[in-house]
Amino acid sequence: MLKKCVLSALPFLAACASLEPPAAPVAKATATPPSATGDAWFDAGRTAVYERKIRKAPTRKAKNVIFFIGDGMDINTVTAARIYDGQTRGESGEENNLAFETFPYTAFSKTYTTDFQVADSAGTASAMTTGVKTRSGVIAIREKASRGDCSAALKNAVDTILEKAEDAGLSTGVVSTAEITHATPAATYAHSAERGWGVDSAMPDAAKQAGCSDIARQLVEFERGDGVDIALGGGRAHFLPADDADPEYPEKTGARADGRNLAAEWQAKSPDHAFVWNRADFDAASADKKLLGLFEPGHMQFEADRPDDGAGEPSLADMTAKAISALSANDDGYFLLVEAGRIDHAHHGGNAFRALKDTQAYSEAVKTARGLTNENDTLIIVTADHGHTMAIAGYARRGADILGLSVYRDEHGADTPIKATDEKPYTTLGYMNGPGSLFAPDADLDEGRPAPDQSDVSDKNYRQQALVPTYSETHGGQDVPVYASGPNADLVSGVLEQNVIYHIMADALGL
Ligand SMILES: [Zn+2]
Repeated sequence: MLKKCVLSALPFLAACASLEPPAAPVAKATATPPSATGDAWFDAGRTAVYERKIRKAPTRKAKNVIFFIGDGMDINTVTAARIYDGQTRGESGEENNLAFETFPYTAFSKTYTTDFQVADSAGTASAMTTGVKTRSGVIAIREKASRGDCSAALKNAVDTILEKAEDAGLSTGVVSTAEITHATPAATYAHSAERGWGVDSAMPDAAKQAGCSDIARQLVEFERGDGVDIALGGGRAHFLPADDADPEYPEKTGARADGRNLAAEWQAKSPDHAFVWNRADFDAASADKKLLGLFEPGHMQFEADRPDDGAGEPSLADMTAKAISALSANDDGYFLLVEAGRIDHAHHGGNAFRALKDTQAYSEAVKTARGLTNENDTLIIVTADHGHTMAIAGYARRGADILGLSVYRDEHGADTPIKATDEKPYTTLGYMNGPGSLFAPDADLDEGRPAPDQSDVSDKNYRQQALVPTYSETHGGQDVPVYASGPNADLVSGVLEQNVIYHIMADALGL
């Protein structure tokens, strides 16, 4: 069989092997539940093995796929958020699991794009929604087209999983706490040479003349199947004319130069189309409407700030639940993208607190989705597009405040900050670069590194100390985790090129 594979000139033996008929099953040792030894760690470990031995292989065909992307949610963010989440319930934290950490299958995803070692959200999201890696900065077009080249983009659009799902008669939805025109959500329904073309006023005239449409227009004018069924997020200004006042902030206006009111156009499509922009209308919106919900002119609030929003905003879990209840009406199934878009923004600001809080809200959304769906017919994949530079460092004692100083218990049982070689305390979380840099242009280094104290680090706006001064903390180039549950979930294993995630989802839906 091996010889046949080599002769067939397949480049990868692994791909070849997968085409072989399955070998005769090897008898497994009978799994019997382990008896308790009384040693809690030992018993929990043996139970974990037992559970894996009796695990039933998932089915292959999915009715529905829910694809969760935590923007910038790398492994360090997951670990820190897991601890934070447990600590908000008064637990030690380390032993806690976020909702998706109980999923049975995991993998690593390699996030580089065709032109960048450290990638952005547009190229990475496009890899996962189209099945092909491409350049950073572009939305669902092939790498052959250069960033910003409208004419080349028009010739190099790649079908997305959402488009194919619409073609196949499935329902589709897009949910994000970022602008709905932002790179990640856009990569499901739009094709663009430039991620920044969210609204016409942000596009160069040459691109408009060459026939390219802004991303907001592409959502409303989407023609595949019966159109996107539900879209919830921020980015309202991209849909409203520059002459019109924003409904929530009358001192602000829309951003469209063409005078079109795309929210009104969405509503006018049919009596079944509805537009909402605040919490009360969102709550009241019926699940049989094709709903466009835009809750801020720009990105939605961070979870930490959401309670202070004047008009009220639904949480990511609320939006996920609304989308699932709307999409479930289709007996043929659905594809839904849910993005926690602002984990990334909090990291860019060097503010770990908001990143962890948004990751906690993301976990709640995953929990909601798993609770509303059946593992036998719904594949849920949870991953990130790329990493950041946050590290979890030092030797903090078990249960130490994850957002606090790195501490040990002294001989009197008191928490005592661990000192660095400059005799000053440091925090457990820190960044490689960013606005919290010790060497920022305005830094006063006469006294050396500033000594953080517990009251500084408890402030919700605290920026953890960082090394290299950059205006915005940068993305990281490390692999990110992938978690899966449901049909085809067992294909999520090993180290994956990021574009393989598309193929696992498309295969599950038979697209
Ligand atoms: Zn980013």
